[in-house]
Amino acid sequence: MSARVLNGKELATKIKGELKQTVDEIKKKNIHPGLAVVIVGNDPASRVYVNSKKRSCEEIGIESFEYALDESVSEAELIELIEKLNNDDRVDGILVQLPLPKHIDEEKIILTIDSSKDVDAFHPENVGRIMTGNPKFLPCTPAGVMELIKESGIEVAGKECVIVGRSNIVGKPQSMLLLAEHGTVTICHSRTKNLEEVIKRADILVVAVGKPEMVKGSSIKPGAVVIDVGMNRLENKKLVGDVEFESASSVASAITPVPRGVGPMTIAMLMKNTVRAAIDHSEGK
Ligand code: NDP
Repeated sequence: MSARVLNGKELATKIKGELKQTVDEIKKKNIHPGLAVVIVGNDPASRVYVNSKKRSCEEIGIESFEYALDESVSEAELIELIEKLNNDDRVDGILVQLPLPKHIDEEKIILTIDSSKDVDAFHPENVGRIMTGNPKFLPCTPAGVMELIKESGIEVAGKECVIVGRSNIVGKPQSMLLLAEHGTVTICHSRTKNLEEVIKRADILVVAVGKPEMVKGSSIKPGAVVIDVGMNRLENKKLVGDVEFESASSVASAITPVPRGVGPMTIAMLMKNTVRAAIDHSEGK
């Protein structure tokens, strides 16, 4: 058996095409979406992510404003910039590329972002809304995973959903979105006992750990849907996920590749949130 490959790149292109149409229309009503992208330091991976976000903005017609700050910027200076962006009417969304240098408190920075411009959905107000099932912005990576699952006609209700990883960015919000679709959700982490056994229960498996090819096909239940969020750059520069694609795709019924899987969907969801924010701001929300 060879799994169906869930092509995130293709779906993201479709979603971005639809967003472009929306943006063309709202521009006629004088609504011009804008995204501020803040990057601190010279991390090459962060630079790659920021560039592709800016490129997507261009494709869709969202204006992007880049703020590239030196590694040595102080927490107070960064807060000052965010406060300025909070009050800038051209800016509908504010994205601070993580991780930040150690001397800056990420939580404090996230708290500074106006929750109506928090297109990453990291602010506690937006996290709380997701928790209570009344989201304003959906968290980009988990929302991208849900779109891929839905678009592929995969039913979540009643399924055993296992998430490996409990970060605030992926694992925890992913669990909320799967729960909202009536999945039976288990979250695993580095202290989970008998991880292999838990993984083997999954009808839908989401892996977001950051360990190259950690999950092998032999741990996966035959016919499972496997979503690989991991993005790991090997020494030979190859990009691989947290799942060993070859062995897993011979067991799973559907699987996301890396690259061209969850990554492009994350960016498409960021664009969607930015357009939503612009429309909300035009309505005084
Ligand atoms: P974090 O490092 O924040 O979290 C990793 C999680 O994995 C933690 O909860 C950790 O457990 C758990 N973990 C680590 N080792 C093991 C293990 N051996 N067994 C079980 N669980 C383990 O990572 P992120 O969530 O930010 O990212 C995860 C991966 O997803 C990375 O490769 C990242 O690059 C990628 N990513 C991809 C995105 C995309 O758009 N495709 C977006 C965001 C991330 P504990 O909490 O106990 O430490």
